Amino acid sequence: MLGLMQDRALLISDLIEYAALYHGDTEVVSRSIEGPIHRTNYRELRQRSKQLANALTALGVKFGDRVGTLAWNGYRHMELYYGISGMGAVLHTINPRLFPEQITYIANHAEDQFLFFDLTFAPLIEKLAPTMKTVKAFVAMTDRAHMPKINTGSVDLLCYEDLIDSHSADFEWPQFDEKTASSLCYTSGTTGNPKGVLYSHRSTVLHSFCVCSRDGLGLSSADSALIIVPLFHANAWGIPYAAAMCGAKLVLPGAQLDGKSVYELTRDEKCNFSAGVPTVWLMFFGYVDQNPHLDVKKDIVLERLVIGGSAAPRAMIERFHNDFGAYVVHAWGMTEMSPLGTTGNLLKRHADLPIEKRFDIQQKQGRAVFGVDMKITDDQGKELPRDGHAFGNLKVRGPWITKGYFKGEGGQVLDEQGYFDTGDVATLDPEGYMQITDRSKDVIKSGGEWISSIDVENAAVGHPAVQEAAVIGVFHAKWQERPLLIVIKKPGQDVTGPELIKFLESRIAKWWLPDDVVFVDELPHTATGKLLKTKLREQFKDHKLPTADAAE
Ligand code: AMP
Repeated sequence: MLGLMQDRALLISDLIEYAALYHGDTEVVSRSIEGPIHRTNYRELRQRSKQLANALTALGVKFGDRVGTLAWNGYRHMELYYGISGMGAVLHTINPRLFPEQITYIANHAEDQFLFFDLTFAPLIEKLAPTMKTVKAFVAMTDRAHMPKINTGSVDLLCYEDLIDSHSADFEWPQFDEKTASSLCYTSGTTGNPKGVLYSHRSTVLHSFCVCSRDGLGLSSADSALIIVPLFHANAWGIPYAAAMCGAKLVLPGAQLDGKSVYELTRDEKCNFSAGVPTVWLMFFGYVDQNPHLDVKKDIVLERLVIGGSAAPRAMIERFHNDFGAYVVHAWGMTEMSPLGTTGNLLKRHADLPIEKRFDIQQKQGRAVFGVDMKITDDQGKELPRDGHAFGNLKVRGPWITKGYFKGEGGQVLDEQGYFDTGDVATLDPEGYMQITDRSKDVIKSGGEWISSIDVENAAVGHPAVQEAAVIGVFHAKWQERPLLIVIKKPGQDVTGPELIKFLESRIAKWWLPDDVVFVDELPHTATGKLLKTKLREQFKDHKLPTADAAE
């Protein structure tokens, strides 16, 4: 017997309709690329998204067509989020930090029909225009007065504001199957070509409920949310959709992610919620440290910060608690998961724990949210115990997790039970908290045992003179691999290798201690800000550990 409830499809257009109706005056504030702070609200956002949908229809965009964006976090990008998906086309957000050849590959692979870009990327568009095979016009996301003077060859260059102005907001969002594709995001793998993750309206709306739930990211209409995670990175962790679902005020930082700009925006817009990768907060702290006159306690009203994308260092969790009275929600996920998998909320029983113990819990990546089934297995696929010690391959399944990449790239990606292998190695503890030990490719295999490079890195960045640390395995005749610690020092600070090892001795297992420490000025990163360990392994493949001779 089937239930007798209505079959209304879960569609992205309903999110903006709801926001316009119930939170029409709630602000969407952007630092514009042209310069000034721009203020709009959900009512206008709906209106302009509809104008855009009319404009795209007039340009010939059809149901299922891909429309690309190369843009920062700003209101026009939000209009594209709603206008493109709402009309039944597919929003394809491209990460501008990728290598130019990868951008070309992605736009061609996705068969983007139009490409919208922020002014910052005008020179890039000029360079790449001849390589983009399917693009019918490039659209500069600005007004007539700021149009870039670039040559896009035989392909038209259009002005965003002209497009909007020349169309009415009289547009009826179409109703269609909720499993219809809504947006496309390519993962920046460290090897091979990027692969496309194709989200649906259904997966996006279900994920939004989770973002708004108390034990998800807890986003609500009471929040002023600073979205630092880029709109081109896994849909900015789903927050642009969830914010409309709950009516949170949105604050979008544009191209300026330096410490000063983020500080000022957080202060001026009274942001109590934020989401971003750890690096941005390091720059924020840097600015605070260099400006002791700032009245941080008065200026900054942050309450909750979602930090993910890479491990949130314990020192960061502690500092937000101690200096800002803010709680770090350590979250884990991936592009293939829309991206939310786990969130680091404390349970009721943790309220009376001493703060150090609470930090211990917060440092883990959190518990699976409803909708994400999770297990760890050994290399043969046998499930491992949830005892907080055994670590294995982390596998997930659920309604907002991919079942295969766009156009079948990478082939079959699920196991017989429908689980997707995340490529992460993790522990699960008896309370359900997951802790990432490593990427499976980065784990250091020493004498048959595994060393977590992330744990050693986290411990190293706890040293006051360390700005950033990377740990890789290098060849060792006796142990197969041993850890090498590579460190960037904070400006004006000093520390030696032996001092760092001494510091680590009380923080990690003895056999995890790095065999050597090297200091560098720069560490390589991927387009999404993660340490590029393949490059480091290549760079240090002939590094001779001081322990190597003893082993021979
Ligand atoms: P992306 O698809 O670019 O978002 O990258 C996803 C990957 O980032 C995951 O598979 C993890 O390896 C890593 N990651 C995401 N969040 C965290 C976190 N909180 N701690 C450690 N690694 C993380």
